[in-house]
Amino acid sequence: MKDQPMAYNHRVDAIRNEEFPMLHDGIYLDHAGTTLYSKSLVDNFAAEMMASLLGNPHSASASSQYTMSRIENIRHRVLRFFNADPTEFDLVFVANATAGIKLVSDAFRGFPEGFNYLYHQASHTSLVGVRQEAGNSLCLNSDDVDKWIEQGHLETRTDTHPRATLFAYPAQSNMDGRRYPLSWCQKLRSASLNTCGRQVYTLLDAAAYAATSPLDLSNADTAPDFTVLSFYKIFGFPDLGGLIVKREATPIFKQRRYFGGGTVDMVLCSKEQWHAPKTQNLHEALEDGTLPIHNIIALDSALEAHDKLYGSMADVASHTSFLASRLHRGLESIRHGNGEPVCVMYSVSPDDAAASSGNGPVVAFNLRSYLGAWISLAEFEKLVVLKKFHVRTGGLCNPGGVATALGLEPWEMKQNFSAGFRCGSENDIINGKPTGVIRVSLGAMSTLSDVDKFLAFIEEFYQEDRQPQPVSYTESVADDGTSVFVDTIMVYPIKSCGGFRIPAGTPWAVRPEGLAWDREWCLVHHGTGLALSQKRYPHMALIRPSIDFSAGQLTVTYHGPLPDTARTEISVPLSINPELFQSVDTPKAMQSRVCGEGISTMIYKSDDIATFFSEILGVPCTLARFPPGGSGNNKANTMVFIHLQIPIRSQSASEYCYPTRVLSSQSIYQASLF
Ligand SMILES: *Cc1c(COP(=O)(O)O)cnc(C)c1O
Repeated sequence: MKDQPMAYNHRVDAIRNEEFPMLHDGIYLDHAGTTLYSKSLVDNFAAEMMASLLGNPHSASASSQYTMSRIENIRHRVLRFFNADPTEFDLVFVANATAGIKLVSDAFRGFPEGFNYLYHQASHTSLVGVRQEAGNSLCLNSDDVDKWIEQGHLETRTDTHPRATLFAYPAQSNMDGRRYPLSWCQKLRSASLNTCGRQVYTLLDAAAYAATSPLDLSNADTAPDFTVLSFYKIFGFPDLGGLIVKREATPIFKQRRYFGGGTVDMVLCSKEQWHAPKTQNLHEALEDGTLPIHNIIALDSALEAHDKLYGSMADVASHTSFLASRLHRGLESIRHGNGEPVCVMYSVSPDDAAASSGNGPVVAFNLRSYLGAWISLAEFEKLVVLKKFHVRTGGLCNPGGVATALGLEPWEMKQNFSAGFRCGSENDIINGKPTGVIRVSLGAMSTLSDVDKFLAFIEEFYQEDRQPQPVSYTESVADDGTSVFVDTIMVYPIKSCGGFRIPAGTPWAVRPEGLAWDREWCLVHHGTGLALSQKRYPHMALIRPSIDFSAGQLTVTYHGPLPDTARTEISVPLSINPELFQSVDTPKAMQSRVCGEGISTMIYKSDDIATFFSEILGVPCTLARFPPGGSGNNKANTMVFIHLQIPIRSQSASEYCYPTRVLSSQSIYQASLF
C-alpha cells in the first residue's frame, strides 16, 4: 500500500460523460459515502431483468432453480474477486456491512459465558456498537494492538474468565482514509495461540478499503476470520453487503440463537419446540428470509461493468492514489498571505513514506482563516452546495477517529452534547474547537478536473491575502458627523475584578449572552456561597485577570499591598475539564447567589486557588466558573465600555474619553474587531 504505484487512467476522461449522465455539472467527491454506478452497469442489469424469469429460490420450479444457480455462481464469482478460495471461505449476502457485523455479534453473544470485545479506536460506529453485546470491551489504539501482539496478552486484562475474544478494526478508516495493517489478523491469531491458548477471532471491516483497493484473501492462514463489505461502495450499485467467513471459524455461528425462513430444515412448533438448522453451508444457515435476489443478480453486472471500464482493482488503486496525492499536496500547499496554511490536514499524506500502512484516497481536513479562526462546517457546506460540490462534513460515524483528530476529550464531547450539539448542528465550533471535519474522497471514475476544481474552489473562497492589521482601528462616522474609532474593548473575566483589554487584531467570539470570556468566573464566599462584589470588597478592583490562549490559561495578578510571603500571581487552566471542579454531588457543593439570583456555579477544587484569593481579600473565598451558557440574565445585559478617540488635526495627543458610552455587544463586534 505504501509503495502503491500511482498512474492516472486517462480512459476515465473519455467515458465520464457517457457513463455518468446523472452527474450533470456536479462534482462528486463523496465516494467514501457511496461511489457512482455506471450506465453500462444499469443497462446490463436492465437487460438481464427483462430476459430472465427469476422465481423465489428454495422451490422446485424452473424459475426458482434458475435463480438458485445464478446466485450460487455469483457467490463464487465474488469470492474469486477477492482471491478467496471457496473451499476455505464462504460468502454470506447481507443488507450492508453493518448487517454483516451484527451477524458476527449475534453469534458471539450466544456464548453462555459471554465474550470479550476489543475494537480499534478508528472503528466506524457500526463496529463500536458491538460492545453493547460483550461481557467486556476495550477500545485500543495501534500501539496497544502492537503491544498486545508482542506480549501475547493485554496488560489491562479486563477479566479472568476464559472467554472467546473478538477483535475488530477497519482496514481503512472511513473518516480520514488511514489504513491499518492487514497482518494484524494473522499475528494476533498466532500470538494468542502461543501464549494463552485462547483464540482471538478477528473481524475486518473492509467496507472503505475494498472500495478502491484489491482485497486479497488468497492466503487463508493470514486472512481475517470475518470480513465485512458494502458492495455499493465498490460499484455504486447494488445496495448489498457481504460477510466473508473463514470456514474454520464457522462453529462460532452455532451459538447464534435466531433462525428465520430459509435457514432451517425443519421446525416443530406446537407440543414440542425443536428445529434443525441448515448445516451444509454456512450461508444457508445465516441468510434469513428471502435473499435480495435482484440485488445479487445486479452484482454480476456490476463486476462485469467495473472490469470493462476500469480494469482490475489494482488499476483503480493506482488511479485513485494518483489523484489523492495531488489533492492532498494541493490542499496542503494553499497558504494565506501571511504564510499560514488554509487547511489543517488529518489524513496521512500519500507521499509520507514513514506512515506504516498508508492512506486511501480520502482527505480529511478543516479550514482556518488567516488569523487562525476555524471555519464553520455549516458555513462551508452552504458554499460548497452552491458551487455543486458533493462532499461530506461532520463526525462521519467515526466517534474515536474524530475525537483523536480534533483532540476532543470525552468530557468536551459530553459537554458539547449537553450544550445542544448534535451530528449536523449549525453551531459546530464549540469552545473554540471544531466538532467535525471535511472529508473529500475519490473513486474509480474521479478525474483530474474534479480534483483541480476543488482546489481552485478552496483557493478562491478560503485563501486570504490580507496581512493582519497591526492595530485594528475601524473608522466609522458617529451620529454627529465626527469621525470616531473604537480604541479598546474590555472584558471582565472575573466578575467585579479588573478588566482585560482584548489585544488588537485578536478575533473574539460573540455568544448569545455577550462577548466571550466576559464574566466567565466569579469569586464566591466559602461559607455562604454568595458571589463577592466590589462594593463590599473594594480590593477586588486590584485583581487583574488576563487570558493567554496559547498557554490555555487565565493568569490572575494582584496589584495591591500584601504580606511578603503571599503570592501575587496564580494561573488557572481555561479548560472546563470537570476534574478541576468540586463534584456537584459532594456535600461541599452549594448554590451560589449572584446579584440575588440562584446559580449553580462550578467551584474549583484547588486549595492553592482558594488560598490565593482568600489572602488577598481577607475572607474565606475561592474562584468559581459559570456553567456553559453564562450566568443567566446578568450576562445578557453585559455592558461594554468603549473609549472613543477623536483625532483632532494639529492638536497632537488630544484624547477625549467617553467611558460611559454603551453599545450592544453585537454592534461593537461588527464595528471593530476586523
Ligand atoms: C461505510 C462504512 C461502514 C458502514 O457500511 P454500511 O454499508 O452502511 O453498513 C462501516 N465501516 C466502514 C469503514 C465504512 O466505510
